[in-house]
Amino acid sequence: MKLDYCTDLDQEIVCIDTGYGRRMLDAAYLLRQGERAAFVDSGTYHCVPRFLQVLAHYGIPRTNVDYVIPTHAHLDHAGGAGELMRQLPQARLIAHPRAVPHLIDPSRLIAGTRAVYGEEGFRARFGEVVPVPAERVLEAPDGHVLELNGRRLEFVDSPGHARHHFCIYDVRSCGFFTGDTFGISYREFDNANGAFVFATTTPPQFEPKVWQSTIDRLLTYDPKRMYVTHFGCVEDVPRLAEDLRRSIRAFTDIALQADAADRERTEQMKQQALAHLVHRLRAHGCTLPEARTKELLAMDVELNVQGLEVWLARRHKPSRRVS
Ligand SMILES: [Zn+2]
Repeated sequence: MKLDYCTDLDQEIVCIDTGYGRRMLDAAYLLRQGERAAFVDSGTYHCVPRFLQVLAHYGIPRTNVDYVIPTHAHLDHAGGAGELMRQLPQARLIAHPRAVPHLIDPSRLIAGTRAVYGEEGFRARFGEVVPVPAERVLEAPDGHVLELNGRRLEFVDSPGHARHHFCIYDVRSCGFFTGDTFGISYREFDNANGAFVFATTTPPQFEPKVWQSTIDRLLTYDPKRMYVTHFGCVEDVPRLAEDLRRSIRAFTDIALQADAADRERTEQMKQQALAHLVHRLRAHGCTLPEARTKELLAMDVELNVQGLEVWLARRHKPSRRVS
């Protein structure tokens, strides 16, 4: 029997819908090479039973999982890593050097995420965040290469969305696991014109210029596909990269205009961000009812505007560095 939350992609990659939030919102990936396997991104604590079911379904013993690789230390990508590691006795956690301290001691990560979602929202969304034992963690700085049973994975430092973010180039499939660095691309917005992508400017480390440079770097690999966390595999990479670049600029323009207006800045940004996305979706040929479109975008607009507020505050106080 097929698991309805799994999609088999080419080259022994499985896209797993983690179930976080709603259907087709949050993905993790299972990579296989012969007998061995790895997870890229790990959803939240609540998603871990699903990952174990996936292993059972594909007949992969838990001891055959070599790596758990969160792309960055935001909890919809890394919240489940500690619990997943407890269930996978042979696995090592591979993380960006800036993410490692937060995964070993998640207290700051929890506090920061609570500030965004509130106490109740935090519990419902993320449950527990289990620390990862330091001795099971391996840092992957820029240029790091990992072999999964001979399958070559190359790590590229990818700031812009967050400074603790890397992307992973899978040589076998000519694709990048991009976390949030290639933006958000919901499958509900697919149509004859292809996929639709937009930037995620979540707090607190959105850096538009740096992000543009990161996109340059990813494109030097000439990737054929991107495995994005939100949600799934996209092709047509050069066009989507251009759309993403424009989306980053559009969000910063919205923030700068609202900043100049200075009254009801947040509300103005929310309205404009939503109107901008709805307008772009229409131009893309999206025929979903407007109410459904707004429902799909509501949380991202909220988070993007929070991130833009932090970005504006940093511009006003240039001495406040991103940590
Ligand atoms: Zn993120």
